[in-house]
Amino acid sequence: MANIAATIITIGDELLIGQTIDTNSAWIAQRLNEIGISILRRVAVADQKDEILKALNEEQQSADILLITGGLGPTSDDITKPLLCSYFNGKMVRSERVETHIRELFGRLNRPIIERNLMQADVPDVCTVLFNRMGTAPGMWFERNGKIFVSMPGVPVEMMVIMQDEVIPRLQQGLTTDAIVHKTTVTAGEGESFIAEKLMGFEERLPAHIRLAYLPDFSIVKLRLTGTGGDPAVLEQEVTALQQELVSILGNIVVATSDLTMEQLLGQTLVGSGSRIGIAESCTGGYIGHCITQVSGSSEYFMGSVVSYDNSIKEKVLGVSAATLDAHGAVSEETATEMVLGALRVLDVDFALATTGVLGPGGGTDRVKVGTVWMAVASKERVVTKMFYFRYDRQRNKEIAAKMGMLFLWRFINNKL
Ligand code: AMP
Ligand code: MG
Repeated sequence: MANIAATIITIGDELLIGQTIDTNSAWIAQRLNEIGISILRRVAVADQKDEILKALNEEQQSADILLITGGLGPTSDDITKPLLCSYFNGKMVRSERVETHIRELFGRLNRPIIERNLMQADVPDVCTVLFNRMGTAPGMWFERNGKIFVSMPGVPVEMMVIMQDEVIPRLQQGLTTDAIVHKTTVTAGEGESFIAEKLMGFEERLPAHIRLAYLPDFSIVKLRLTGTGGDPAVLEQEVTALQQELVSILGNIVVATSDLTMEQLLGQTLVGSGSRIGIAESCTGGYIGHCITQVSGSSEYFMGSVVSYDNSIKEKVLGVSAATLDAHGAVSEETATEMVLGALRVLDVDFALATTGVLGPGGGTDRVKVGTVWMAVASKERVVTKMFYFRYDRQRNKEIAAKMGMLFLWRFINNKL
């Protein structure tokens, strides 16, 4: 078994100035990891000939596979294709299959086709063409001195289908890679330092081929055990046993033993349970509803979210009393409680969650500081309230509030509060 290493090269000025966030590298790295290919480096370069050539020359020194995205558009700023063609001493030829596909795409959209579009079907005669069913720019596979070079479009969905349809199967066929096993444990409620203290002995006992990584995200810490090498079945057993040990050391702060998001965790609990949930959202503005509906099949247990941003909606739709709002304000334990009871009733659900807070940067008062969020969870029998305080910017506060809200609800449903 060999350790196969890849480097991901992303091309595009937009990546360097931060206008586009490089999601391609992360996605590609995850897919390669799944098939046991390790990532040596991730390099971002400008749409400039010298820079691209330098990256190609440098990275092939150490990587077996170079996966390249970007620079394949039909416009003059995209230069990857002619550059690769001359780099591999090829000449451009028209691919009939790609031309037919492009004509079909344009036909379906009822759009006129111009030569610039058809030029997307020109490919170096020294590459294997990788079919792109989502777009016009095909991917290209080159080999030289035992190294593999794959060029794909920058548009994420196009890169993804080429990876899935063409690249991954070819890589799996041609390579024998080291076994690699990841097992992630999700914890909530304690910081990473506290966890690290508890795991000191455990970490010392870990064999050299198994590593532990801490991935903190506010009060959720993911612990990833990664084992490499040897027989895949033995490695799987080894890492599984270590994860069980880790879970027993950490006890009730463990919320999941696979890499789940909070919305997936809720889904896991609720699917097939017959229970239904609903939400009343003020400060989170519908974002929790968005998160929950990211999970396929959520319609089975999620009834809906009342985005009761304005006080009048809290009153009219949820039945929060004007007296409560006057006496305690919108961001208060009392309002959160009446909101959650309103959601239970109006949405006719078994469990509900309510959020009301000030996410900032404006809107704070002497009484209610920016970052304060009151939440309430309820069933027909019981209401539990909790005050949270988030100290980041608006976007981040909203994301964390959503995560903490879903976790709060999950704990309530599972009698872990
Ligand atoms: P291109 O193949 O260079 O024409 O890329 C087309 C579009 O894909 C760009 O305008 C970006 O918005 C997007 N894109 C390019 N590279 C990446 C990347 N590494 N991650 C996410 N999006 C990208
Ligand atoms: Mg580009």
